[in-house]
Amino acid sequence: MEPRNTRFAPSPTGHLHIGSARTALFAFVLARQSGGKFLVRIEDTDRARHDEQAVGLIGEDLRWLGLDWDEGIDVGGPAGPYRQSERLDLYQQQIQKLLDEGKAYYAFETQEELEALRSEARARKQDFRYRRGQEVPTRQEAQDAKAQGRPVVVRFDAGHEAVTVCDDVFGRVTTPPEAMDDFVIRKADGFPTFYLANVVDDELMGVNYITRGQEFLGQTWRQSVLRRALGYSEPGYAHLPLIMDMQGRKLSKRDGAVDVGAFRDQGYLPEALLNFVSLLGWNPGQDREKFTLEELVELFSVERIGKSNAKFDRDKLLAFNTEALSSASPGRLVEAFSDFLQRQPSDLPADDPELLGRVLECNRGFRTFGELLEKVNVLFGPNDAYAFDEKAVKKNLRKNEEQGLKVLAELETILGQTEFSTAALEEAIQEYCNRNELGMGKVAQPLRVALTGRTVSPPIAETLLFVGRENVLARIRRCLATVGD
Ligand code: GLU
Repeated sequence: MEPRNTRFAPSPTGHLHIGSARTALFAFVLARQSGGKFLVRIEDTDRARHDEQAVGLIGEDLRWLGLDWDEGIDVGGPAGPYRQSERLDLYQQQIQKLLDEGKAYYAFETQEELEALRSEARARKQDFRYRRGQEVPTRQEAQDAKAQGRPVVVRFDAGHEAVTVCDDVFGRVTTPPEAMDDFVIRKADGFPTFYLANVVDDELMGVNYITRGQEFLGQTWRQSVLRRALGYSEPGYAHLPLIMDMQGRKLSKRDGAVDVGAFRDQGYLPEALLNFVSLLGWNPGQDREKFTLEELVELFSVERIGKSNAKFDRDKLLAFNTEALSSASPGRLVEAFSDFLQRQPSDLPADDPELLGRVLECNRGFRTFGELLEKVNVLFGPNDAYAFDEKAVKKNLRKNEEQGLKVLAELETILGQTEFSTAALEEAIQEYCNRNELGMGKVAQPLRVALTGRTVSPPIAETLLFVGRENVLARIRRCLATVGD
C-alpha cells in the first residue's frame, strides 16, 4: 500500500465537534495503516470566526481520544509553522505567481455592488456567479481603488472547462462550468481564503490523501482547479457522509452533546466514544462492532465507507460506554475516573487513586462517570449539603411509629464505639439486626437516608467508611434533629 500522508485541518471556531473527531480518526487510521504520516494543522485564516482558545482545546481533545500526530501544532515538523496565520508569506508568493501568470486578477466591487449583481441575477432567475470581464483591473487601478477605501480582493480565473473530482466514497463528481465562479483567493484583509491556503499547505506539507466531510464535496472543484494552476498533483479524496440525528436532521446541540469535550465532561470513556465514532459511516463488514484503535488501524478501509447519511444514535453510544466501563481494567477505570474528576467541581479527590479504586469497586452498572459521581458525591461533601427526600423519610424513618428514627438513635451510640473497618461495621450492624429481629433493610435504609438524604448508596459498610466516623455521627444527629420532633 502506498503511504497515505493525511492531515486534520480544523478551523478553530470552538470545541472539537464529533464530526471533526471522525474526520481526524479516519485520517489518523489511514496514515497509520499505510505507513504514512498524520499531521494536524490549524486553518485560522478566517479572523472573524477565530477563537484562540479553541486551538488548545482541539489538541487536547484529540490527545484525549488517543490520536497523536507526527507533525503539526505543538510537535512541530519540517513543513512548519502549522498555523496558517503564521504562513501568510507562503500564500502571498503563490497568489503573486497566479497574478503574474494571468490566472488570477484583482477585483474591488463593494458589498453593495455585489449585492446588486446578485439581485439582478435573481430577477433573471439565475444564481449569481462572479466571472471576469474582457478586461481586468491593472495593479495600479487596484492600488487606486484601495486608496479610495474599496475592498480589493484577488479572484481566481476558474476558466470554462468542467472539472471532475474523483472521490473514493462518492465516485466521480463533475462540476459544469456554469456552476463555477471566479472565487476569491485573497480577501480584502490580505489573508488568503480557505481554498488557497488549504491547497498550498497540503502541497507543501506532502499531504496526498484527504478525508473531510461531505459538505465540502460541492466545493472541491475549487481546490482542483487551483492545484492545476499551481502545478500541484491531485491528492486522493474520501469525503465522509453527513451525520444526522435519529430524526434525520442535522446533528445539533438541541438534542445533547455534540462536542468531544462535552462527552468527556459527562464521563464517557474515550475508547468508547472513538469506537462509536468509527461506525459513523464506516461499516466493518462483520457482526462485531467493538474495536480498539489498534484494531481499527488494522481493519479500516475506505471501501467500506458508505455514501448514505450516518445516524448519531445516543442510546447506542451510552450502551457502548456502559459496556466499556464494565469491561475496563480496574487500573484503567481509576485513571479515567481521575481524569473525569479533574475537570469537574466535585467533592471526590481526583488525586487519591486508592480511594477512587474503592469507590469504583463497590459501584457497578453505572453508565457514565457523571452518573456515578451524582450517586456518590454526597458521601464526600459537607455534612449539611443535602436535603432529606420526603418520600424516603416517610417510608424509612417515620413509618411504624418512627421505627427508623429509633434505629438511628441507637446506631449513633453503637457506631460511636465500633471500629471503622468493613468487617467490624458489617458485624456490628448484623448483630444489631439480630438482637432487634430486624431485617437488614430496616437498618441500612434509615442509615442511608440519614447519611445521604436518599435510599441509594454503596453497600452500607462501605457507605459508612466513605463518610467516616465523625461525619457519620454528625449526619445522624442532623437527621434526628431535622426529621425528628
Ligand atoms: N478548515 C476546514 C474545516 O475546518 C478543513 C477542510 C478540509 O479538510 O479540507 O473544516
